[in-house]
Amino acid sequence: MDVSFLDVRAINARHADELKAAAARVIDSGWYVLGEEVAAFEAEFAQWCGLPHAVGVGNGLDALVLILRAYRTLGRLAEGDEVIVPANTFIASFLAITQSGLVPVAVEPDTQTFNLDPARIEAAIGPRTRAIMPVHLYGQLADMPAITAIARRHGLLVIEDAAQAHGATWSGRRAGAFGDAAAFSFFPAKNLGALGDGGAIVTADPVLAQRVAALRNYGSLEKYRHLYQGVNSRLDEMQAAMLRVKLKYVDADVDRRRAIARRYIAAIDHPDIALPSVSAEERHAWHLFVVRSAHRDALQAHLRAQGVHAQVHYPVAPHQQPAYAGSLRDDLRLTERLHDEVLSLPIGPTLDDHGVERVVAACMSFRSPT
Ligand SMILES: *Cc1c(COP(=O)(O)O)cnc(C)c1O
Repeated sequence: MDVSFLDVRAINARHADELKAAAARVIDSGWYVLGEEVAAFEAEFAQWCGLPHAVGVGNGLDALVLILRAYRTLGRLAEGDEVIVPANTFIASFLAITQSGLVPVAVEPDTQTFNLDPARIEAAIGPRTRAIMPVHLYGQLADMPAITAIARRHGLLVIEDAAQAHGATWSGRRAGAFGDAAAFSFFPAKNLGALGDGGAIVTADPVLAQRVAALRNYGSLEKYRHLYQGVNSRLDEMQAAMLRVKLKYVDADVDRRRAIARRYIAAIDHPDIALPSVSAEERHAWHLFVVRSAHRDALQAHLRAQGVHAQVHYPVAPHQQPAYAGSLRDDLRLTERLHDEVLSLPIGPTLDDHGVERVVAACMSFRSPT
């Protein structure tokens, strides 16, 4: 049997009885949008994040977009304002900025942590810069103390893209609790995954939370009174019910991911495979375990021949995507090199010790092409 990259079916099968009972509760309730399940999940997720407010939305991209739109309607952001973003992120971070009439300013990452490099942020700040959007890439917290200090000095908003970082903590604070607001995704493959699309924003700011709550629902807090030109992007009752079940297990799941990562780091010792660098164990929620190799494609093919499914996150950087053809800064050599070298090994809460050892053995038997 192959070692799959991530077995979402097995992840949910562990909770099948509870998930089915929760689904039955929603079906029988006759209430499917913005009801008790969403309200309860918002309260539970906010508490888990250590924040007073969470607002459920349709997906992680919309969570980012709605934070930016909310700040626009609050007068904190205006058309053409610049947002600093890591160059090596999933394209959703960029799409959220450009969809909101804002300008992404891509900054090269720290090639050890893959995260925004605080030392490069200040050089990217110009007269139109209004916000920084750190992305906790692969599940590891960006250097939030340094980033929030820079933001404070320059009067910038900090909007965390925490879509990969459920469960990462720094001095007891969870991802999402460092910036002015944060966006989470509950796409099925994320550390906390729904059985469909879902997302949430979290914040300590009641005004922002209420504005996002209005914007996700046609700009309305009261039926047929529309204060803003909102959208329809609501977390639905069924997904909220699924997430309430799965939230109970996310800490244990992240613990299992950490144990797998520890084993990989202890056991994979190969001149052509660079292991990820971890600033502190609890800061990494190991959404992905990403190694680097100058022979990435050969390594991926070798693993595949051994029955081990590895994936690339991501093969092409946002600034090189056809969607942004020529419209973004393109002197991003570190980012481009990372995209040629990164490879994500299997990791997840249902990967057992036997599977882990097969991944280790497959890596150790790699011979680089000469
Ligand atoms: C998954 C992801 C998103 C978008 O989430 P969706 O729910 O898929 O829209 C945004 N940013 C990052 C870094 C992601 O990994």
